[in-house]
Amino acid sequence: MLKGKTAIVTGSTSGIGLGIARALGGAGANLMLNGFGDAAQIEALRAGLAKEFSVKVGYSGADISKPAQIHEMVRQATQELGKVDILVNNAGIQHTSKVEEFPDDRWDAVIAINLSSNFHAIKAVLPQMKSRNWGRIINIASVHGLVASAEKSAYVAAKHGVLGLTKTVALETATTGITCNAICPGWVLTPLVQKQIDDRAKRDGVSVAQAKVELLGEKQPSGEFATPEQIGAVCVMLCSDAAAQIRGIALPVDGAWLAQ
Ligand code: NAD
Repeated sequence: MLKGKTAIVTGSTSGIGLGIARALGGAGANLMLNGFGDAAQIEALRAGLAKEFSVKVGYSGADISKPAQIHEMVRQATQELGKVDILVNNAGIQHTSKVEEFPDDRWDAVIAINLSSNFHAIKAVLPQMKSRNWGRIINIASVHGLVASAEKSAYVAAKHGVLGLTKTVALETATTGITCNAICPGWVLTPLVQKQIDDRAKRDGVSVAQAKVELLGEKQPSGEFATPEQIGAVCVMLCSDAAAQIRGIALPVDGAWLAQ
């Protein structure tokens, strides 16, 4: 379905981003991976995806908290893979702390990585998407783009901001073949959430297994994690022709978190 298309997926060396890269690659898209990690492992991942899906796969080590490096990533993807048709703004970090104790540098980092990076990447890819009158921009927001949780001020502010940016870009591209949407996952079991489970186990003096059950029980009525594969499949759907008039939405994949 996406044969001949090229996708950048930020933060695709781990977790949800990797699930998205695998789903887009499985649908035939060439890929530009991005994210941190061990160089040898990333190279093995890059070569493995290229072989498994018979697509071209590149890698950019851009630190997306730095606008210049985002522009360089887009330039590299365009040069190595020919163009950028699909942009998935996925990379994100978390920091939990009460507002009055929230370190200033963590606030700045969460806003830069979870929100401002989306703006810079969209700005960098839009001109070429417009020149071909086709594009798919998918921002991985969160249920925390629509509701809050305590001790996540920067994350909640950033994700609410991502939904505002998504709607604005959707309006500015409404009469074109470019769509911009957001996906709002609930709990997905990735390294980002595993850290919160481990912290919770330590805080409450319970086992990691028990902390996992309690974390889900608090917010996610299904009692199950969403998976990176499911988020990837939703991205493929948003890239399809069927989704051409899905514009500016915030699509929850959240085990009924937001239904409460
Ligand atoms: P993760 O920690 O498993 O992966 C994050 C990825 O981002 C990694 O590849 C990491 O290397 C990359 N990254 C971090 N900082 C970066 C930077 N400065 N520059 C480039 N890459 C960077 O996290 P995840 O759980 O897969 O989260 C992915 C996205 O999904 C995030 O935006 C997160 O907010 C969102 N999300 C996650 C959940 C969840 O339950 N896991 C729920 C809702 C939303």
